[in-house]
Amino acid sequence: MSSSIELYRIKKKIEEANNLLIVSHHDPDGDALGSSLGFGLFLDSIGKKTTVYNRDKCPAYLNFIDSSGLINSIENIPNDIDLILLLDLNDFERTGDDMSIYLKNTKLDIIVIDHHQNPKIKTNFSLIETNSSSTGILIYNLISSFGQPIDNLIATLLLTTIVTDTSSFRNSNTNSEALRVAAELITLGGDMQLINSSLMNDRSLNKLRLEKEILLNHEFYSDIKTSISFCTTENYTSTNTTKEESEGVANFLLNHKEVKIGVFIRQISENSWKVSMRTNGFIDLSLLANKFDGGGHKNASGFSFDGNIDNLKKLLRERILYEQQNPTT
Ligand code: 5GP
Ligand code: MN
Repeated sequence: MSSSIELYRIKKKIEEANNLLIVSHHDPDGDALGSSLGFGLFLDSIGKKTTVYNRDKCPAYLNFIDSSGLINSIENIPNDIDLILLLDLNDFERTGDDMSIYLKNTKLDIIVIDHHQNPKIKTNFSLIETNSSSTGILIYNLISSFGQPIDNLIATLLLTTIVTDTSSFRNSNTNSEALRVAAELITLGGDMQLINSSLMNDRSLNKLRLEKEILLNHEFYSDIKTSISFCTTENYTSTNTTKEESEGVANFLLNHKEVKIGVFIRQISENSWKVSMRTNGFIDLSLLANKFDGGGHKNASGFSFDGNIDNLKKLLRERILYEQQNPTT
């Protein structure tokens, strides 16, 4: 299989390196951070120097996976890095402005390990499996190829990648590999109880207040079987919340039987919006997001939009209608 050859080449490249930089996408989720920190700890354990970078801090709902504060900012990146790993992304822009510039200027080899559709980075070293439920599963396979034991902390970090990217084994990307690897990670000491209690039981009343505002902004378009809801910066301010408290809204919208696509739009600044989309196989959302210069998976994708929200909703509705009438096979 070509992917096992790729895995072997990547393993060799890592063995030859001494000082590695691990980068994941901005606004990191459980997969980005679980993969980065899990692989970072593994590399430390085999004697490598490792720097884990993210543009943003660990979101509060994931604090349990970065309790030691291992994420570095751009100023902390050592000068003598000799290999770069990009995890859970395949577009430099997804790392943020500073890191994009760093990556565009570097002469070092770059390894991409990812599970998103439509890669945008050209590199000789990539492990891209769009059927994998999480990047963490690819990291698990890579670590296993070193023949070294995985300790319970790394197991918990990698298990988190599967739990978060499958929405606790409920999304349609939950396949037998996800369940098998999750079972193996639990056998290795992965703490499912810690993950579940951290992700589920951490709701604040402010989050409930924010959800009320978001639901007031809800619209269902029966012609395209799509629910769209949005959240303004004013909604966040008045409920004393941040974007973290609106995680999962697109999934929530999709949980209604009439709804085939859930769309959540979050305001970033006056004329700037972030769109999150979810489906269960109705249309290919990665293609839809590509039309707006975004990306992701068939069933979960996103993009940023500059302009007026009414215009954004109009363009989205037209595009969804078009994709429904002209499905790409
Ligand atoms: P979310 O809705 O959770 O932010 O993102 C869903 C999926 O789409 C994730 O896999 C995420 O990496 C991807 N995604 C979200 N926004 C963007 C974007 O602006 N560009 C690209 N390339 N992918 C995105
Ligand atoms: Mn992922």
